[in-house]
Amino acid sequence: MERRAENETATTLVLDIPDWPGHRAGQHVDVRLTAEDGYSTQRSYSLASAPSARHVELTVQRVTDGEVSPYLVETFAPGDRVELRGPVGGWFVWTPVQTEPVLLVGGGSGIVPLMAMIRARRAAGASTPFRLLHSVRTPADRYYLPELQREEPRLEVEHLYTRTAPHGSARRPGRIGEQDLRTVAWPPQASPSCYVCGPTGFVEAAADLLVDLGHPPERIRTERFGPTGG
Ligand SMILES: Cc1cc2nc3c(=O)[nH]c(=O)nc-3n(C[C@H](O)[C@H](O)[C@H](O)COP(=O)(O)OP(=O)(O)OC[C@H]3O[C@@H](n4cnc5c(N)ncnc54)[C@H](O)[C@@H]3O)c2cc1C
Repeated sequence: MERRAENETATTLVLDIPDWPGHRAGQHVDVRLTAEDGYSTQRSYSLASAPSARHVELTVQRVTDGEVSPYLVETFAPGDRVELRGPVGGWFVWTPVQTEPVLLVGGGSGIVPLMAMIRARRAAGASTPFRLLHSVRTPADRYYLPELQREEPRLEVEHLYTRTAPHGSARRPGRIGEQDLRTVAWPPQASPSCYVCGPTGFVEAAADLLVDLGHPPERIRTERFGPTGG
């Protein structure tokens, strides 16, 4: 197991799983931890790696006062055992046979399964047009920055900031709004598939805005990670 810091609160765990059955981009695993006294608890984490990658990667954001995420981000070390169940999920997935334009909308750690889709697209050599809109609190909270800053044909990446924007930004910090999606989203006439992932409140707000902009609900796939975050 290796670890890679993504930002101040999120870390990628690179896991060696010899009998991994393979997965589709967008799926998650259930991670079970068991203490010496037998107490055990479980949480879901999206797969960040492309299906074809050699290792299985999870990116975990530390939730203040959380039971599992601080342990995975700060304490979990090579040699420690976790149990994984999965891959799980059949609806929030993207496969390279899809050729329609794709809109990815992520809030905070909600970018993780979307990153798996970007990586799967790259690994397949697909030229499907992708647009990513990632909402984070501040520039320091961005994920996968070196990888997302690399030029890639037909992949467009936009960040929006809820608390502090980079110096000189035209947009004032704030939660995702209609104008943000109007600017980034493909028009409904292009029949895109939309994938929205993040804290529950974020997902509901972004999906409602997409419907208001004319996207049919059945083209909007959502994955809720838990309570509303900023
Ligand atoms: C399908 C699925 C995929 C997920 N994928 C990822 C992933 O790739 N990366 C990742 O970091 N997380 C992911 N999550 C969230 C993850 O499962 C946990 O909920 C999260 O790590 C918090 O667990 P915890 O034990 O640290 O906190 P808990 O002890 O469960 O909760 C502590 C406090 O934090 C609040 N809280 C719980 N979850 C969240 C949250 N997501 N955001 C903000 N506050 C929260 C609780 O209400 C509580 O007040 C996913 C969730 C689902 C359902």
